[in-house]
Amino acid sequence: MSKLFKENKSGWETIDESKKKEIFKFADDYMDFLNKSKTEREIISSAETLARENGFKSLNEYSELHPGDKVYYVNRAKNIYLAVIGKNDIEDGINIIGAHADSPRLDLKPSPLFQKGDLTYFNTHYYGGIKKYQWTTIPLAIHGVIVKENGEKITVSIGENDNDPVFVITDLLPHLAKDQMQKKLTEAIEGEKLDLVIGNIPSNKCDENDNPKELNSLDLNSQENKLNLKVKDDNIEQKKCTEKIKENIMKILNEKYDITEEDFESSELEIVPAFKARTAGLDRSMVAAYGQDDKSCVYSSLRAMLSIENPERTAVCLFSDKEEIGSMGNTGMQSHVFDTFIAELLNKLRVNRPNLLDEVFCNSRMLSADVDAAMDPLYAEVSDITNAGFISHGVSVNKYTGARGKYDSSDANAEYVAYVRKIFNENNVKYQFSELGKVDQGGGGTIAYILANKGVDVIDCGIPVLSMHSPYELTSKFDIYSAFEAYKAFFNN
Ligand code: MN
Ligand code: MN
Repeated sequence: MSKLFKENKSGWETIDESKKKEIFKFADDYMDFLNKSKTEREIISSAETLARENGFKSLNEYSELHPGDKVYYVNRAKNIYLAVIGKNDIEDGINIIGAHADSPRLDLKPSPLFQKGDLTYFNTHYYGGIKKYQWTTIPLAIHGVIVKENGEKITVSIGENDNDPVFVITDLLPHLAKDQMQKKLTEAIEGEKLDLVIGNIPSNKCDENDNPKELNSLDLNSQENKLNLKVKDDNIEQKKCTEKIKENIMKILNEKYDITEEDFESSELEIVPAFKARTAGLDRSMVAAYGQDDKSCVYSSLRAMLSIENPERTAVCLFSDKEEIGSMGNTGMQSHVFDTFIAELLNKLRVNRPNLLDEVFCNSRMLSADVDAAMDPLYAEVSDITNAGFISHGVSVNKYTGARGKYDSSDANAEYVAYVRKIFNENNVKYQFSELGKVDQGGGGTIAYILANKGVDVIDCGIPVLSMHSPYELTSKFDIYSAFEAYKAFFNN
């Protein structure tokens, strides 16, 4: 029920012990899922595994589709569409729930490896909206793939097992941070300083002959020499000795993965927090984890999808990539691969004809399952309290998103909002209507507008998150379960 007009209280007050147990069990499964899947590729692979275990088959395993069939398509390992074929004619429209599998992180640059002083680093380029200072001095892990010229794909995951090494980005000690501390938060940590320390043992002993003479006799305390050193950084001569640590790292990588430095050019290596998803709070009410934007919605909508049998309307669940950087590219929601998937369903249902795809979209409904900014009592000044999403008050519905005057928003029609309210109320889903924050404060977008542009009725509906986009986001177990119930109700109507 909606928080303002019917029941303005925490969801925890509305349930009994057995429901609480059910919610906690669901959260345990969710945390398991998170610990297996931190990047979009891992999410898609985990989703595919769960789908297959629940009777889904890939699109090319079907020559024809019939009501009740469960089918999926994986696009380039980063993006998945799942469908359960309904009893109704598909031209009457489909029920879609879409979430995104990517989360803010640091990507390795194409030429990431460099040595400076006695340390070797990986150079990064941040992905999505991050507060850079949050990424220093925390344990980080490396996940991703390296693809060699012959097509061989090497999967990398370092930093998740207890005996794995982790990686750290350094920050200045407070004792010497007088200048840094005067800077604005946006400038105190520069993007180019978000470099991962990855080693400091030289490949062999560094002797005097390795270095140009001047370097050995340098008084490193002199400001002038420090500047000279900086200038000479690009000097090949000087690298004879200073690259030995990098050389050793390359040797280790070569032994472990059989790669050369050049192979980084065709890699996708993502730096993510090495934290495990954990229960948070003395009352065990919350989940702390990296990437809950938007994996909390991925998991709750996936579980809703897996629970469906023989729906009236065809149900489609999708997890897209690149949402955090604008949804573009062939794995982002803006790509036409989704249209092609639906067109293929029409072909295999043997109903396709010109314009049918457009007709299907115009008759379809969607929940854009993306997280909402939970009102943070310590920062209440950025929220409009009567229109804010509260933690543990249930799944949060945003009629519109966007920023500063609804720019770049998708604004659901009142008629469709009424329809969604009715479904949630009829199915006893605890939900709340909210906005992202105060109108002048900022805002954000989701994939909603992309489907709305195709003619689909869309509304944003997701889990409120505290510290969104940080390395360790906080959600309520109640809201995660409430989202699952909302998505299930939507699919079954
Ligand atoms: Mn999101
Ligand atoms: Mn986001």
